[in-house]
Amino acid sequence: MNGSNILAKKLEEIILKKYHNISLDQVRNDIDRIINSFSRRPWVLQENIFNKINLKNKEYLIDLNKIIRESEKLQILITKNSAAKKYWNTILPFSHRVNDVIRNNYKYPLRIAIFPGVSCMFFCGFCGRNQKAKYESSIIDDGINKINNMISEADIGTKISISGGLEPLTNPKLGSIIKTGSDRGFKLPLITNAYSLTDSFVKKNPEIWLLDSLRISLYGHDDQSYKDITQLDKSFKMVKKNVINFLKSRNDINKNLKVGFNFIILPENYKDLKNVLLLIKEINSEVKNGEGINFLTLRDDYQSVTGQDENYDTERKYRLNNGMTDQNREDLLKIIENFEELKSEYCPRLHVDYGYSLEYLSQKIFDRGLVKIKGEEIRSFGFSQLSVAVDLHGDIFLFREAGFLNRQGNKKVIIGRLGNEVNSLENNIKNFLKRNEPIKFEKNDSRFLDSFDHVLNALVNQAEEDEKFGIPLSFGPIAFKNFDNKESLGNNWYSDDI
Ligand code: SF4
Repeated sequence: MNGSNILAKKLEEIILKKYHNISLDQVRNDIDRIINSFSRRPWVLQENIFNKINLKNKEYLIDLNKIIRESEKLQILITKNSAAKKYWNTILPFSHRVNDVIRNNYKYPLRIAIFPGVSCMFFCGFCGRNQKAKYESSIIDDGINKINNMISEADIGTKISISGGLEPLTNPKLGSIIKTGSDRGFKLPLITNAYSLTDSFVKKNPEIWLLDSLRISLYGHDDQSYKDITQLDKSFKMVKKNVINFLKSRNDINKNLKVGFNFIILPENYKDLKNVLLLIKEINSEVKNGEGINFLTLRDDYQSVTGQDENYDTERKYRLNNGMTDQNREDLLKIIENFEELKSEYCPRLHVDYGYSLEYLSQKIFDRGLVKIKGEEIRSFGFSQLSVAVDLHGDIFLFREAGFLNRQGNKKVIIGRLGNEVNSLENNIKNFLKRNEPIKFEKNDSRFLDSFDHVLNALVNQAEEDEKFGIPLSFGPIAFKNFDNKESLGNNWYSDDI
């Protein structure tokens, strides 16, 4: 990538006037290296750039950053057209809140994930849930009330989603949450494994048609591959049947509701990517009254996020073996090479979202996997100004992968519980910040963060470190203030704005 070619010459000249001993070639070269770093690793520290490029002084780096920051073309190049563009999509809408996180200022969360599931019928080998835990059905009504009250009071600019935690459709009152959110104008996405997405469930919960999108976690492409992951016989048949029927009804009742799959890429299944497209083609061919599957999200490296240490999360039926190796990822790069071609042939209207990490591979750039921060680097107060999760007890979790009932060690990231007015989400977060008791995190606690949490945590850590180094974010190469509007905070997978 040669960013300096599109730079205004005038700006380079300013630098040359100021630093007599630096040549134009050197300036251009240094600028290109900064652009390349931020196009690959948005969380790179100014100190690292300074050392890596072996710059003369901080003022020079600040001036180079300014040149990049003031070029609209370079901003687009880095944040919209680079291999890291999925990371940037997450980072940009949150950047204006980073200083509040660092200083522990209260702000209503920009994102809330609701986990209303009572239990789950699957036993996925990469899932961090406590597979022996489920909520008492006697608390469902109370839990629904707490969640509905929270939605009724939520800032209208906040993005709310419904997912797991456990499987959301195991909550028979799920429709009530959707209705409350929809009535307030929230565009709600729901993530489900679709095992319970039967005609009878949909009839009992017609509010499901008020959703903005529905994403189905797809655990295979046939009976055996599904059973291998979920450990449940006939899970594939059930899900496939439910999806086809749901799509047919969707086309009659609410064509605007987008339906898609999320396929988690594991060492055990990455060679099946083509079969996923074939499955979508087959499903679409059975849906004769309109659109079929609208979108496909691909996510990889999931096991490494949920934690692989066998001493933790021991209540699992089984555990998948390993994370993706470098060799697996090399192979995947080749598989992805003709994925777009196959997609055009099998399901041309399908929107594919490659996610953070696969976006690199889809651009033929080898990448070792998701950004992951270490246990000791976790923010000791989380980042509630950006994101929290809430479960059926009304428990407020700082991180999303912690939001499983009785997951080993997760109590430390529950910062409060919703209740009556005094115990609103706002008051709980305010009290937590006021108590000023930092949470001590250890190595294995990083398994409580999902990939989205890792990105946010990396962003806040970067801002803090850069500030300490003397080059705060506002003096860095990205014009964050140009991306501050909330409109860019996406909440769906069927378009590229998340
Ligand atoms: S990943 Fe989802 S479907 Fe699978 S066991 Fe965990 S909660 Fe259930």
